[in-house]
Amino acid sequence: MMSGKILIFSAPSGSGKTTIVRHLLNAFPNLEFSISACTRGKRDFEINGKDYYFLTVDEFRQKISEDEFLEWEEVYENNFYGSLKSELSRIWNKGNTVVFDIDVKGGLNIKRKYGDQALSIFVRPPSIDALESRLRYRHTENEETLKKRLDKANFEMSFSKDFDIELINDNLEQALKEAEEIVKNFLKH
Ligand code: ADP
Ligand code: 5GP
Repeated sequence: MMSGKILIFSAPSGSGKTTIVRHLLNAFPNLEFSISACTRGKRDFEINGKDYYFLTVDEFRQKISEDEFLEWEEVYENNFYGSLKSELSRIWNKGNTVVFDIDVKGGLNIKRKYGDQALSIFVRPPSIDALESRLRYRHTENEETLKKRLDKANFEMSFSKDFDIELINDNLEQALKEAEEIVKNFLKH
């Protein structure tokens, strides 16, 4: 397999990670998204095979047993998420850089494995309150899943210092500019 570079984006849910990653994928044609497998329900606007490979828990377990994952986590109770080894080869074989949108634990694991080949970026919301209002505004959660995500957010924030870069997403436009600079620098060498 050809080998290449990796960009890892991690953050508490609602930080704006997906918004930033989408922007970067549009701005840099050599970046390509690693499509994860997951077992949560599809959101209306999501596309199977583009945003995620949506699997049943049985299908997910099958892939675990066949050693198809680079890493996987039960990110939320009964909701499994995993990065597929096949995504790395698919993207690297085209000479592109792999972009991961992945939880904090998974992000740190991939960084540990790939060292300088990878750049890990923690997207930080200005506050937990801001995170909550963004999640509410997104209209994708109910009170229960919202609470799960906010509980986990506090825990995840404590790992931000373990990442190569902390990107604060307060003003979106500014965060997008900073993200572009970060990527430009990383792709340079
Ligand atoms: P994540 O992928 O980290 O869960 P999203 O990218 O889905 O987060 O963003 C969560 C919500 O917050 C979305 O509705 C998005 O449009 C909004 N959002 C993203 N960045 C900002 C920002 N800087 N200020 C206000 N709202 C934002
Ligand atoms: P969401 O349900 O909001 O799409 O994602 C929930 C969390 O799971 C986010 O933090 C997201 O980054 C993370 N996630 C998505 N794909 C993967 C993956 O392949 N592995 C891990 N460990 N986490 C993932």
